[in-house]
Amino acid sequence: MPSKPNKVVAIPAPMKRASINVGFTCTNDCVFCVAADKRSFPDKTTAEIKHEMEQAYVGGARDVVFSGGECAIREDICDLVAFARDQGFLAVNIQTNGRAFASKAFCKKMILAGMTVLNPALHGHTEELHDSLTRSKGSFRQTVLGMHNMRKLSGGRVQVLVNTVVVKKNYRHLPDIARLLIGLRVHAYQFAFVHAMGNALRSFASVVPRKTDVMPYIKEAIELGKRAGLHVGVEAVPLCLMQGYEKHVSEFYIPSVELWDRGERIPKFEDIRIKYGKVKFPQCAACCHKDYCEGPWKEYPEYYGDEEFQPIVSTQ
Ligand code: SF4
Repeated sequence: MPSKPNKVVAIPAPMKRASINVGFTCTNDCVFCVAADKRSFPDKTTAEIKHEMEQAYVGGARDVVFSGGECAIREDICDLVAFARDQGFLAVNIQTNGRAFASKAFCKKMILAGMTVLNPALHGHTEELHDSLTRSKGSFRQTVLGMHNMRKLSGGRVQVLVNTVVVKKNYRHLPDIARLLIGLRVHAYQFAFVHAMGNALRSFASVVPRKTDVMPYIKEAIELGKRAGLHVGVEAVPLCLMQGYEKHVSEFYIPSVELWDRGERIPKFEDIRIKYGKVKFPQCAACCHKDYCEGPWKEYPEYYGDEEFQPIVSTQ
């Protein structure tokens, strides 16, 4: 007898977001990096990024994300954050490997410039695990110190929202990672199931786990977060694997994103993600979640098939 599916309620739309990719230079070399093939492309100039921010603001965006590559190693990053706040952006999110924030002086400058969200990536609960995934010695120590610095120096005013990419090597340790993040008093954490592009696609067999193997650990890590009063998100895991945990599906909370990628502006990135990035299956037609579930990234069933994704039949 299938359990009764949780009712999915509509969530109010947050501010429109502009995500500006500043370039692909990075101080890590992650085994699952989706941008690995683009790293030799030139980074955007300061003038290009400011021009994109101006256009995004006029277009209605009030929340800006700087992504990469690694945006925090740019010499102009404080200037870009201050420019964003002067423009009128209400939220400035730094998507980062977190290493630059190990410097207290840098943290202080970024807080003064007006950043509002630190969005660092942590992929292991130990130096050994994290550094083996980033292939960068010392990265764990710097990223953890960066989160600690930001919590302390901003007095909680800068939100620390942590992202962990779920791969074969770390999924059994997701609860350990959750315990570490709770101890660091971050505001929220998210587990993003690895997207098999770039390095992750080239090393699919050694990097990408089966989703059903991962789920017990994800659910344990969610429970830990709930008990600590933190929001925990899970990205790229379809609803049929999230029974009882539907409200943790990150896609429900991601705002509409205008993506300023290299050489192109994508007005509603979510449309591209759903249409070309994700996939659903013939059996989804019978599922009560079919209208809002995005399905997994399309590369996943090419390797593992679609048997894990079985329709949830509403009993309401
Ligand atoms: S069966 Fe299909 S529509 Fe239903 S939750 Fe799973 S992937 Fe989504």
